[in-house]
This record gives sequence, structure tokens and C-alpha cells, in this order.
Amino acid sequence: MKESLIAMMKVDQEIDEIKNNVGEYEQKYREIKTTYDLKTKELTDLKNQHEAMISEYALMKEKFDLEETRLTKSRARINEIKTNFEFQAMKREIESTERSNAELKVQIEQMSTEKDQFLEQLKAVQEEVDSVQKNLEATKKMMDEKNGEIESVVKQKETERKKYESKIDADILSTYKLIRSRKFADALVAIEDGTCQGCHMNIPPQMAVKSLQSEVFQCPHCQRLLYTKVDD
Ligand SMILES: [Zn+2]
Repeated sequence: MKESLIAMMKVDQEIDEIKNNVGEYEQKYREIKTTYDLKTKELTDLKNQHEAMISEYALMKEKFDLEETRLTKSRARINEIKTNFEFQAMKREIESTERSNAELKVQIEQMSTEKDQFLEQLKAVQEEVDSVQKNLEATKKMMDEKNGEIESVVKQKETERKKYESKIDADILSTYKLIRSRKFADALVAIEDGTCQGCHMNIPPQMAVKSLQSEVFQCPHCQRLLYTKVDD
């Protein structure tokens, strides 16, 4: 039975290692996914801001064009005006509109530059998102491949494991499982030089003597299963 227990734990530890290997890929995938989500959100925000800029730009241009049309009409009408009072009033209005339109024109040009610069920034973030997405897809592919590969290996190992398990006393088996699930991956260790190789504490001599009679017993300190190595 002792040999079966030792062999079973070896298989269990091999399965642990294979699963940890996949865990690394999953961890890497999650990390890239977090970056991807953040960058995608940043890109969406930038796109919304850019849309708002385009709308504002269009509104400003529309206003400018309207005022220009009005100016053209006023300039044509001013010569038909009879009284000096009305002429002066219209002249002031035309000059005022000319001033405000000149200001508006500067604002429109500024807005146009800002809009173009913003688009460059947006393109840069878009490129980052594309690159992170590629990385994410490649990692996902690797993770899926690894998962597929190990699934068959683990199945094979679990079949092997069952062969050993059937030879182990039920009480010891449940203790082993409990220790492995709650505390230590190395639920079974040897006694060497009178110490438990799990916690490195001394095993009382009477207990060590008793251990020669029973194949497997528990460490009084760490509760791991212990066995005595017999030299060939
Ligand atoms: Zn111990």
C-alpha cells in the first residue's frame, strides 16, 4: 500500500504542475485583457470627444456662413439707404459683424487644428488597441491549445492515479485527500533521521518504533502522512 500511496502522490503532483502551467497562461491572458479593456474604454472616450469636436466645428462654420451671407446682403442694401441716421446705424452693424466674424474665423481655424491633432492622438490609441488585441488573441489561442493538450494528458494521468488509489486503505486515502486539499500538496512525506520531512520536527521515538509496525501514520506536528524509508 505504501508504494501505491507514494506513486499516487507523484502522479497528483505531476497533475498539479501541468495545471499550474495552464494557470500561468490564464493569468497572462487576464492581465492583457485588463489592459485591453482599459485601452478600449480610453479609445471610446476619445472617439466621443472627437465626435463632439466635429459637431461643434460644424456649428461654428454654419454660424460663420450665415453671418457672411447676412453681411453680403447688408453691404448691398447700405447704398439704397436714404437717411444718414439709418446709414450710420447699418454701417455700425456691418462693422460689428465683420469684427465678430473675424474672431469667429480665428476660432474656427484653431478648432480645425485642434481637431486634427486630436485625430492623431486617437489614431495612436487605436493602434495601441489593435496591438493589444492581437496579443490578446494570440495568448487566448496559446491558452486554448495548452488546455486541449493537457486535457488528454491529465485524463491519462487520472487513469493511472485510479490504479494506485484502488490499492489504498479508505481511511488513509480520505486523510490524504483532506491534507492535500486543506494544507499541503505534499501530504505524504518520509521520516528521515527521526524527523518529518514536511515540517522538519522530531518524531517521538516511541512513535517511530510504532511506525515500523504500521505502514503509514500521521505526523503529530503537521498532520502529514509519514512513512519510514526502508533501505534496499
Ligand atoms: Zn510533520
